[in-house]
Amino acid sequence: MSDCIFCKIGSKEIQAMLVHDEDDLAAFRDINPQAPVHVLIIPKKHIASMNDLEPGDMGLFAKMVAAAKRIAKQEKISASGYRLVLNTGAHGGQSVGHIHLHMLGGRQLGWPPG
Ligand code: AMP
Repeated sequence: MSDCIFCKIGSKEIQAMLVHDEDDLAAFRDINPQAPVHVLIIPKKHIASMNDLEPGDMGLFAKMVAAAKRIAKQEKISASGYRLVLNTGAHGGQSVGHIHLHMLGGRQLGWPPG
């Protein structure tokens, strides 16, 4: 989508601190980190939210989760632990309309979330 900031990061039209890049996925550091490690994992294809995931996108979604596992190892938080978050819609706190997985780690995280 032409005005989507995460599409622009995926296509490298806008710079971000990439930690992972492949054909159909990218991962980059959150601009406003909420933990020592805060990475966003996105598909390069524009999918607005979890609600817009189609059955044909499940392979891509699985690749996002597999990338998260690899990035956790790369960021050295596999053993200490981390959290994957997928905010959806207004009540979910989604502020960018392009599906993304947050990976948070590097400190003890609280529960329940606010
Ligand atoms: P959400 O509120 O779940 O939609 O998360 C969107 C996240 O994107 C927030 O944590 C923002 O800090 C982050 N964000 C927004 N713009 C950028 C950007 N240009 N580069 C990196 N992270 C961004």
